[in-house]
Amino acid sequence: MIGSVNDFDAELNSRLARLRADGLRRELRRVDSPQSPLIRVDDRELLNFSSNDYLGLANHPVLKAAAIDAVKTHGAGSGSARLICGSLAPHHELELALADFKGLPGTLSFASGYMAAVGTIGALVGKEDVVVIDKLVHASIVDAARLSGAKLRVFAHNDLDDLAGILAWADRVKTPVATIDAPAIAARRSRTLVITESIFSMDGDAAPLRELVTLKEKHGAWLMVDEAHSTGLYGTNGRGLIAEAGLTDRVEIQMGTLGKAVGAAGGFISGSRALIDYLVNRARGFVFSTAPVPAAAAAARAGIELIASPAGDDLRQRLWQRVAGLQALRGAVPAGFQSAIIPVPVGDETRAVEIATALREEGIHVPAIRYPTVARGRARLRVTLTAAHSEDQVKQLAGALARVGLAG
Ligand SMILES: *Cc1c(COP(=O)(O)O)cnc(C)c1O
Repeated sequence: MIGSVNDFDAELNSRLARLRADGLRRELRRVDSPQSPLIRVDDRELLNFSSNDYLGLANHPVLKAAAIDAVKTHGAGSGSARLICGSLAPHHELELALADFKGLPGTLSFASGYMAAVGTIGALVGKEDVVVIDKLVHASIVDAARLSGAKLRVFAHNDLDDLAGILAWADRVKTPVATIDAPAIAARRSRTLVITESIFSMDGDAAPLRELVTLKEKHGAWLMVDEAHSTGLYGTNGRGLIAEAGLTDRVEIQMGTLGKAVGAAGGFISGSRALIDYLVNRARGFVFSTAPVPAAAAAARAGIELIASPAGDDLRQRLWQRVAGLQALRGAVPAGFQSAIIPVPVGDETRAVEIATALREEGIHVPAIRYPTVARGRARLRVTLTAAHSEDQVKQLAGALARVGLAG
């Protein structure tokens, strides 16, 4: 046993036992099929309502062909970080496609959305600055904000009054001119960076983007919006909620992932040319990490092009039909706002795991989302629908939810 001298494994095993007792122990389940509505898990076929592959692109023939072509033309690996010699054509083509998609001059791709958050926030702010985040933002943003060393404040979820109070406080505490550590960089003002998501990952609700923009402009703050769960789904051609609200030129930093509706893997930041040039120089997760493989970039580009095409419109229409179908079957009042993320609240962690297990016995996979992904005592089942689900599969889900006691 490794670490028997100092009880290394024994210590970790006792921590794991504690997680299990609290209903918080998590384990990997091997999936032997592609991502799709039907997955093979531990030798069983399960109906999958857990994926963020909202448009069913992860196993789409067009994306697979693009990945295979990229391997044939550009090889399997990237060789280095992009500033060294790994800035391969597929990365540039992906970024051109993304800039066009977003209607912005610049985009930089990263190996993941997590890395995009950590690299970008760490590059833009430091200990002389203030970062203000919504209470429910994704862990990648929380971690990035902490790592940046900036003063961190959290505003109540979507609460503009709370945010206004914090911004007023930030205006008072900021020093007008700060000299930052690196002597090569000129003295600059302290900055305030507000960060939120356009669609929240575990609740599926939307941020009040227009009001947020007005408020941050009043205080001269910068705004970063994570469109991880809206890219591909909302707005003309699936550009996202910022574009839909007509706010493209008023949000300094747009973030997205290529691993959800886009169907591949990776993350990106979109904005001005200055933002992108600066990140190429200063985002450590970009500078010091090997470029993603050509196949990932090529698949993502194919995903973006499909999303922006009439075929993308058809997929979005199918997705919203499935969402409306499930709501009707569960007797839910049709909401003015549709989301592919449908949280079914449970509360207690152990109970959420029991319900997820009962659903699995019905042949349905819905994950029990628990702390630390959501707050303690706020465990839930997180149902996600995709354009690839059939009407009949949605019916099966509604029936199973009712049988395990989770009617609408
Ligand atoms: C998934 C997710 C990320 C991270 O993106 P990855 O590409 O999976 O690393 C960031 N923000 C939100 C809101 C997410 O849901």
